[in-house]
Amino acid sequence: MALSRRKPIGYPEISFLSFDVLPLLAGIQHEMGLDAVGPFTFSLQSMATLACIRWEQGKPGGDIYFHSVFNHPDVPQPVIEHILRHELLHLKIPARVIDGKLIHHPPEFWEAEQALVPWKSASWRWMVIAFWAVIKTDIPNECTWVKKSWQKLQKYLYPIWQMILDDHNRYSDKQDQIKGLMESL
Ligand SMILES: [Zn+2]
Repeated sequence: MALSRRKPIGYPEISFLSFDVLPLLAGIQHEMGLDAVGPFTFSLQSMATLACIRWEQGKPGGDIYFHSVFNHPDVPQPVIEHILRHELLHLKIPARVIDGKLIHHPPEFWEAEQALVPWKSASWRWMVIAFWAVIKTDIPNECTWVKKSWQKLQKYLYPIWQMILDDHNRYSDKQDQIKGLMESL
């Protein structure tokens, strides 16, 4: 989930989430000390990756895009909140060159994210279980692709958040996928 200069191709959808994202986003932005960067829009749409943020230094505001796989009333608020915090953190901790390669998520990014989203491993467990059939992690490019076949998710139920919190061991067989995803985000 990276900082993008281009708008992802796709059409914004009506939100089917069970809560309002804009007040949540504004609250997080305020809490992170990012009021001065201006307001952010939020869109749900079918696109190539799980989420991204568009923002240019010196220009007010920006845009946050989430893939349509999130556009469902059963998607828990903590998962959306995790991604919003992650995306906004890109404004505070920029990409930097490490060993000759531009890294969008340097070690200090992950450290800050852990403090900002203490529930992030539960959130990733939820995402791996909900989306496993349609996502592909790309560690070298630090991104998570959503396959074109994502609409087949409509056949499955999304997991219940409380179940994820209560039962860590149940998903131990998915540990490798979860780790891969956490590193490729
Ligand atoms: Zn990211």
